[in-house]
Amino acid sequence: AEEKSLNFIEEIVEEDLKSGKYKEIMTRFPPEPNGYLHMGHAKSICLNFGLAEKYGGATNLRFDDTNPVKEDVEYVDSIKQDVQWLGFQWKNEYYASDYFDTLYGYAVKLIKKGLAYVDDSTAEQIAAGKGTPTTPGTDSPYRNRTIEENLQLFEEMKAGKYKDGEKVLRAKIDMAAINMHMRDPLMYRIKHAHHHRTGDAWCIYPMYDFAHGQSDSIEEITHSVCTLEFIPHRELYNWFIEKLDIFPSHQYEFARLNMTYTMMSKRKLLQLVNEKVVDGWDDPRMPTISAMRRRGFTPESIREFCSRIGIAKRDNLIDLGLLEFCVREHLNRIAERRMVVFDPIKVVLTNLPEDYSEILDGENNPEAEVETFRKIPFSREIYIEREDFMENAPSKYFRMTPGKMVRLKSAYIVQCDSVDKDEDGNILQVNCSIIPDSKSGGENAGIKVKGTIHWVNVKDAVKAEIRLYDRLFTEANLDEAEGDFHDYINPESLIVKEAYIEPALKEAASKDHYQFIRTGYFILDSKDSTPEKLVFNRTVTLKDSWAK
Ligand code: ATP
Ligand code: MG
Ligand code: MG
Repeated sequence: AEEKSLNFIEEIVEEDLKSGKYKEIMTRFPPEPNGYLHMGHAKSICLNFGLAEKYGGATNLRFDDTNPVKEDVEYVDSIKQDVQWLGFQWKNEYYASDYFDTLYGYAVKLIKKGLAYVDDSTAEQIAAGKGTPTTPGTDSPYRNRTIEENLQLFEEMKAGKYKDGEKVLRAKIDMAAINMHMRDPLMYRIKHAHHHRTGDAWCIYPMYDFAHGQSDSIEEITHSVCTLEFIPHRELYNWFIEKLDIFPSHQYEFARLNMTYTMMSKRKLLQLVNEKVVDGWDDPRMPTISAMRRRGFTPESIREFCSRIGIAKRDNLIDLGLLEFCVREHLNRIAERRMVVFDPIKVVLTNLPEDYSEILDGENNPEAEVETFRKIPFSREIYIEREDFMENAPSKYFRMTPGKMVRLKSAYIVQCDSVDKDEDGNILQVNCSIIPDSKSGGENAGIKVKGTIHWVNVKDAVKAEIRLYDRLFTEANLDEAEGDFHDYINPESLIVKEAYIEPALKEAASKDHYQFIRTGYFILDSKDSTPEKLVFNRTVTLKDSWAK
């Protein structure tokens, strides 16, 4: 394999290992269980787990579940499934809510050091007191409460004596700090809400900034990587660790993944689900990992994509075409070929007897190292694609047209003789004759024909539903487009068709990938397909139809 240069986080890790700062590294992937994982998370997963795999170490899966209101076990389960499907295994499964006692203890420790205080101000008063980036804030009237009073009030907050919003716990840092996050940030707020794990045990919940870094430290995370918007939080992250004198985890920031023709935010994706723009989190048009799995993307292709886009320090917009390229390349290697006819016309092979029947061998995948074959029944009547026939064709037409020969895929060369039509000119059937011994390896196989077309046997063809998925939006850069995303929903993001599939496809399982010859890559739909009515999803077209 090609030697890839190190990304900046790998450089930091290598330096830390070389200097002896750490013997082993520890990373974590910290999703908030308030939605399904999307491709942006895949990038973070590949980075965090990839670092530990590459340098020797481990990765924790930590559910950042400090906000009781929006979180749910449904999300926890889907997140675990998605990480494993991508091919990674965590060392420990942790929940920030497991640290509520420890975090409470840390808060008490800061109060005792005179570094935290209970504030009775309203949210508006606190916001106003923060000042602006160019003017200092003002001290809260509660800032100089005694340690004893703060300890008692904080305990009463925990005991449920106060209503939501009546009091908060704040760090006592510097109301004139240049970094707004250092102007006495909130540590705890009161929320009388049921938590999906701790139930009603708590009515105060730690803020992100007081939970995240401390959780990293408790788990002895060496390299805590997050996205760029957390740069201004780093100073506070370090302040808490220093003042609490706990394991010094370090935060590093990288650019989040943004992709063309889609959105990368759980909040917006939830909106698509709630507004029924899509049919759930795993609608194959969504950029969620569960949707992509259902659509037929492979973990290998997603990991390859994440490796190709690299890790940057500046935000950028990645072309969705690159992801499609990665999956095409992988599926070309692993997908078995099958014949499917979407818009059939009947071809009668007039020089075969009425009851003729033969079982042909069709090669599953010309790219595979070991040749394997499937059985394809063949007889006097077949369907071909309407667009593969033209009555009065120009001389450069290489598909089926009267007077010319064409090869039927995995079968014979046929000569097209005539076409039968009704009074209105609609084609009833095309009449051809097969060239004997023209199957691959036969005496006449070498006859030069320019075109090969796919077909299915009329008698054995099975009708199936085919869902042709395309990009959900028509606009590449939704963040910069005028109006909002509703204005750019692609009306053709899903087109449902019926098609005739060759009988071998009846055996399809929802883990198998197929190339429908000359159409694209497909997978059985894991949700809606039944033995009586097979449903296939198009993963991606054979070629990039969006390329300029
Ligand atoms: P969203 O904005 O979609 O809700 P989030 O950052 O709030 O995303 P979390 O569940 O907190 O979602 O994310 C878990 C981890 O995944 C975090 O470390 C976060 O930085 C990372 N992550 C989230 N979105 C992206 C993205 N687009 N690119 C790279 N990493 C991401
Ligand atoms: Mg988050
Ligand atoms: Mg979020």
